[in-house]
Amino acid sequence: MSLSQMKIKELLDENRAHECEGFGESNVCVRIAAIADLPSRFGDFQVVAFYNNRDNKEHAAFVKGDICGAEDVPVRVHSECLTGDAIGSLRCDCRDQLESALTKIGRMDKGILLYMRQEGRGIGFTNKARAYGLQDHGYDTVDANLALGFRDDEREYSVAAHMLFSLKVKSIQLMTNNPNKINNLTQLGVVVSKRIPHIIPPNEHNQFYLETKATKSGHLMDFQGKERLLEQGDRPIVEGMTPEQIAALQN
Ligand SMILES: [Zn+2]
Ligand SMILES: [Zn+2]
Repeated sequence: MSLSQMKIKELLDENRAHECEGFGESNVCVRIAAIADLPSRFGDFQVVAFYNNRDNKEHAAFVKGDICGAEDVPVRVHSECLTGDAIGSLRCDCRDQLESALTKIGRMDKGILLYMRQEGRGIGFTNKARAYGLQDHGYDTVDANLALGFRDDEREYSVAAHMLFSLKVKSIQLMTNNPNKINNLTQLGVVVSKRIPHIIPPNEHNQFYLETKATKSGHLMDFQGKERLLEQGDRPIVEGMTPEQIAALQN
């Protein structure tokens, strides 16, 4: 059962007037701006569009089931990656991660995918393409990563946390392999009741995860000798990894 029309109207009415205490430059505040049904190849979702006063980006939630007031809702936080998500780039594994999260949530009664419009770790598409270009010209990944910029975790999670509050989710099961994500959300007041390991099926494009070791910067080289960037902030567990490999992900 999805969010009813009555519940949607109630949420939209409340959010029209919503302001967090101390609303302004320094205080993140988010409002639900629109909600609609979204049948998809992964199941019947509803799409929720958000306004926020922090980064003026149009973040989204893809919601399965009636999550309003619900506990232990499975949640995946995904950062936008135009090249990976839409085009299927193999420079990262964003599309595999996105599809596997949507497939899993699509089979559940309830779940949420937060789609954060933080392309290239928040520095935008153009700078991400620049960093790729630097790597093509032999730049060390560390330098190219500096050009890519490092994600401002605080910013990302504070908007994401408020999005969950706006949806009136009481507690979540976070789909991640990165304990830091849990700590960050917990510090922002999100109740994380459990972690669901983020496991993706093996395919020809991610087999290298099973066989290669990390470079000096902690990244991984694929079969072409190109480095795969971790744009989602955590390495996925690929089905078939050994317990040692899985343990190494969390270090
Ligand atoms: Zn607010
Ligand atoms: Zn990507």
